[in-house]
Amino acid sequence: MPQPLTTNAIIKCPHQGLGTTIPSLPKWQINGGYVCVEQDTGTIVCPQLNNPCVGYTLQSMGLNATKIDERKVILVTDFNKTLNGLPLDITEKPRRRSRSSFRRRHLPHRW
Ligand SMILES: [Zn+2]
Repeated sequence: MPQPLTTNAIIKCPHQGLGTTIPSLPKWQINGGYVCVEQDTGTIVCPQLNNPCVGYTLQSMGLNATKIDERKVILVTDFNKTLNGLPLDITEKPRRRSRSSFRRRHLPHRW
């Protein structure tokens, strides 16, 4: 199952500027983030002084058939670019470690 892109994802331009996607169809949530569809737009806070990246429009590569209201769902692995044509670095936030594995490592030894 390919991973849909949500508003939880960390989206960066090549200058490490952070992007924020505005979900146009805020209907389907995964881990508290809205799933993004094609033509969703985002804004980038880019540190570049000359010709900074200002935003992006998400495009689907068409590798999945999942749609919301006839618009294709964007995958984390879909290739997307900034409005000035630079590649975006997209990573979905890793899930939190389960509490049981935390407890296993931090329990004091029994003597
Ligand atoms: Zn940039």
